[in-house]
Amino acid sequence: MQMNQQLSQIIRDRFACAPDQCSSRQLYEALLLLTRQAARDRPAPAGARKLYYFSAEFLTGKLLSNNLLALGLHEEARSLLAAWGRDLGDVEALEPEPSLGNGGLGRLAACFLDSIAALGLPGDGVGLNYHYGLFRQRFAGNRQTELPDPWIEADSWLTPTGKRFSVPFGGFELEAVLYDIAIPGANSGCANRLHLFDVTQPAPPPAEGISFDKGDIAHQITAFLYPDDSGEAGQMLRVYQQYFLVSAGAQLILQELEERGFSPDTLADHVVVQINDTHPSMVIPELIRLLTERGLPFDAALDQVRRTCAYTNHTILAEALEKWPLAFLEKAAPQLAPIIQELDRRAKAVSAAPETAIIDSQDRVHMAHMDIHWGFSVNGVAALHTDILKNAELKPFYELYPEKFNNKTNGVTFRRWLEACNPALAELIDQCIGPAWRKDARELEKLLDFAGDHTVLDRLLEVKQANKKRLCAVLQAEQGVLLDPESVFDIQVKRLHEYKRQQMNALYVIRKYLDIQAGRLPERPITVLFGAKAAPAYHMAKRIIHLILCLQRLIAENPQVRPWLRVVMVENYNVTWAERLIPACDVSEQISLASKEASGTSNMKFMANGAVTLGTLDGANVEIAQLVGAENIYTFGAHSEEVLRLYRGEEPDGRSYRPLAYYHRPAVEELADFLVSPELLSTGVPAELSALWKDMKSKDWFMALLDVEDYLAAKDRCLRDYQDRQAWARKMLVNIAKSGYFSSDRTIRQYNEEIWRLG
Ligand SMILES: *Cc1c(COP(=O)(O)O)cnc(C)c1O
Repeated sequence: MQMNQQLSQIIRDRFACAPDQCSSRQLYEALLLLTRQAARDRPAPAGARKLYYFSAEFLTGKLLSNNLLALGLHEEARSLLAAWGRDLGDVEALEPEPSLGNGGLGRLAACFLDSIAALGLPGDGVGLNYHYGLFRQRFAGNRQTELPDPWIEADSWLTPTGKRFSVPFGGFELEAVLYDIAIPGANSGCANRLHLFDVTQPAPPPAEGISFDKGDIAHQITAFLYPDDSGEAGQMLRVYQQYFLVSAGAQLILQELEERGFSPDTLADHVVVQINDTHPSMVIPELIRLLTERGLPFDAALDQVRRTCAYTNHTILAEALEKWPLAFLEKAAPQLAPIIQELDRRAKAVSAAPETAIIDSQDRVHMAHMDIHWGFSVNGVAALHTDILKNAELKPFYELYPEKFNNKTNGVTFRRWLEACNPALAELIDQCIGPAWRKDARELEKLLDFAGDHTVLDRLLEVKQANKKRLCAVLQAEQGVLLDPESVFDIQVKRLHEYKRQQMNALYVIRKYLDIQAGRLPERPITVLFGAKAAPAYHMAKRIIHLILCLQRLIAENPQVRPWLRVVMVENYNVTWAERLIPACDVSEQISLASKEASGTSNMKFMANGAVTLGTLDGANVEIAQLVGAENIYTFGAHSEEVLRLYRGEEPDGRSYRPLAYYHRPAVEELADFLVSPELLSTGVPAELSALWKDMKSKDWFMALLDVEDYLAAKDRCLRDYQDRQAWARKMLVNIAKSGYFSSDRTIRQYNEEIWRLG
């Protein structure tokens, strides 16, 4: 049936009106139903093995346009709506963004599901159906406040499957109800599933803010992603969440194995489990438990599981590597404790070194260590990151199991992050090199033929300018700020973390503020855009948001500075914001302390949209620099080896990092002291700003002061170069041309060839 008839019929049946009379809301609901059904009707891909991608988060973004594109229905829907005098964009604006993830890790999982389906590989996601997400961010009094972020409406992308699994916790059981979201593959004709587990009676949103009864496991377990774990009740809730996810997921795996006609003792031949970071690590002992329950001897169960599970490491930050007290696991899932203890005994027989123990001398369970000992693959997410894992962070494990370690440099789906979010650029690329790049992003390299073509370079600048104007319109409508689209758009959007060093960017803003007041004007006005959520209990991160919002206010109210410099932090940064900000970006800020950002993926999205990177040699920035060459990227700062030596206190003179030595440099002291200047204190909370200032001078754990002078110089050089518009456009073009390497289709092909072998 034609879409016209299908959609008209849904609208008639549901709303008893004609398509040209219904509201945008009704149109959205009708399109949702049509698209959801079309995705569901697609067959699952075939293969010898099936992948289950376990992740605490899936940051999918809105799905309507994405799914219409994947189903090949986007153009038809757009023109049909146009014929009815409607706009698909207006309809999509009504779609709530699913609150199923929060940052790079969850967005990676979503890009991977998109690519797995597009490549026609059998692979489903497994996660939790959070009702209120991480939180919805609001600014009040120049500070972050947190609200629930509900997204599930009467009609949503979720489909109830009718499947239920009983999860045995210590002292009680909880029913896990399974919902699915169909993931249609672009050009592949098939669809996979995102499996999301929920409780039967989820709690309503908290009456105030995001605090709730963390002991009410039965109703609250799927309420929030990463509930505050600064206290013991929050930590226990996270353990309950993790076990709920993996127990229900493992039961689903074994049920599907049986439905496919295979016995449990052939698990490894038919299933592969990718453990995305350590949150789902308990899937290893849980699968062993379920296999022994089905009659396998322990050794046989272990043998199957160790050939089934593979682990992706996402961080070297010590505080982010999960270690749970064994007592917590004994309370939440007592049946797992003896299995984990046995896994620990056997691991200690392989290596007696305390650094490789699963259970340490303080009876804490190191989740990553369990994954490395008892999985068959350990991968890092960028070349530098994997090198650091092998040679430093996980060196004792690399020496034990060199064959398990491998790199899979992250990628992003160009369907969302170029085709859908930047249609004008996509069209320009088509005009230059044809549409083959839409199926194989490496084709973008053909753009290099146009590096000397002034017409194409001018068109590239026009597209960027149009995207900047579009962003200005959105910012005016949503946040009431009026920006100058002729200014340079310098953008840093990512989770707020000290290692990502938004505070260093703020020091640049302060430098410019002081310069402009002293009459030293930049060659062109500068707009510095931020977007970031801080974890609710992460006080330093919230102070950095406070600093940025105070600077935003101070500058907006200063008529002398305002024409030359603006700072804007977008409220509630999410995928929808990213899709508007990234196409409008001139300078992409990727300034983490070298060695600390495992890969980054927004760096890849920005590059593909013709932004030029200003970054440290960290994560995938290293690979970006190699691809585009020194003249098309601005790198600065200490290298990872130097940083790692500083942390170990191994510099030639035995020194470790002392921020005070850098603080006392005249060019630095003035900027840092601005945090406690009367000017800033008048808009800010003195206790917060001075806590930030003191920390910067005395701790500065992520070494912002080490790199700040180099950063200021590199950024000034970058902004000067921006003035030669043709030369800049050439840099943009080279970045786009070389970005194809970072397609998640490439990443997934490598996972499949080297880890999954789905066949
Ligand atoms: C891509 C993306 C991220 C990851 O950003 P990084 O800079 O790589 O940390 C986080 N949030 C959203 C909404 C994204 O789209």
